[in-house]
Amino acid sequence: MSVLIYTENWEGKFKKSTFELLSYGTKVAEMLNTTATAISIGNVEATELAKLGNYGVTRIINTTGDGLNVLDNQAYTKIIADTAVKESASVLVLSNNNTGKALAPRLSVRLKAGIGSGVSVLPLSTDPFIVYKRAYSGNAYAHLKINTPVKILTLSRNSFEIIEKNNGAITENIPLQIGGIKTQLIDVQKQTGKILLNDADIVVSGGRGMKSPDNWGPLVELAELLGAATACSRPVSDEGWRGHEEHTGQTGKIIAPNLYIALGISGATQHLAGVSSSKYIVAVNTDKDAPIFEAAQYGIIGDVQKVIPRLVEAIKEVKSR
Ligand SMILES: Cc1cc2nc3c(=O)[nH]c(=O)nc-3n(C[C@H](O)[C@H](O)[C@H](O)COP(=O)(O)OP(=O)(O)OC[C@H]3O[C@@H](n4cnc5c(N)ncnc54)[C@H](O)[C@@H]3O)c2cc1C
Repeated sequence: MSVLIYTENWEGKFKKSTFELLSYGTKVAEMLNTTATAISIGNVEATELAKLGNYGVTRIINTTGDGLNVLDNQAYTKIIADTAVKESASVLVLSNNNTGKALAPRLSVRLKAGIGSGVSVLPLSTDPFIVYKRAYSGNAYAHLKINTPVKILTLSRNSFEIIEKNNGAITENIPLQIGGIKTQLIDVQKQTGKILLNDADIVVSGGRGMKSPDNWGPLVELAELLGAATACSRPVSDEGWRGHEEHTGQTGKIIAPNLYIALGISGATQHLAGVSSSKYIVAVNTDKDAPIFEAAQYGIIGDVQKVIPRLVEAIKEVKSR
């Protein structure tokens, strides 16, 4: 019995969320009186791979092979499932991001395992195995009892503290030849000069209170000053003021930055469903009773047209010191 943690890399590098995942998986292993093992797929340099050992795992399984540097759902599922069986893993931990959401259901079928998706806290108990998670777009919480021998948990980003602990992890390199890989990456054309919304630590977001697409200049300037990504509410993208790739919420992107700045956004439940996992929410709204202020830690009651330029000036002033 062990806990197996799938550690995703992006072009050979691990992100902060991976270390969060390792810290979580290690704690679950402690609850089960067992050890945690990390599995990495695709080429990652030894120095980068060694970082995984700083967060409590005792083993790192490094699988490499032709065609494995890019996510192929079926190939990755097979590798993780085969490893889980070999390791007698009783719990698998993945990120609740696009990759985790693609792999977890497939692993669930292969391993006949129940899933606790989007968890943000440790299991409440391990026997019975009960997890506590958000339900109905964050409008409710659910206690979920997982009855299967193997359990799969996907962890929401920014929900668990990073705990450094070196357990002298041993790395095992496993070269693989996986046949039947169905997809081949031919070319990647990255967006340039733009911070990706899903990855951003800071997000500056505008709602209908911005009044017109012509008013977005100061919001973008604020985002650039903060090294932030830009986002918007759904009506804003429906109106064509901003592209749909920026729309956050129940029907848009679900994000969990460290800081979410909501400008002229009312805070409807469908919007909050996509942003309420942010560590800090700062809201600017003319209506003191707007629901966004209930979700926000900091709020300014005021007109965005006046407040944003003042924030820009204040940040410039701090930066110039
Ligand atoms: C099935 C379904 C799914 C949905 N999915 C999503 C989703 O994924 N994402 C999403 O965002 N919405 C979604 N919605 C829509 C959602 O219900 C709200 O209508 C929407 O979030 C409101 O957007 P808003 O806050 O920008 O606009 P509004 O509700 O119009 O709010 C504008 C806010 O700006 C404030 N304001 C006005 N002028 C100023 C000013 N000068 N300065 C400062 N503040 C000002 C107002 O007080 C108000 O609070 C969904 C709805 C449904 C039915």
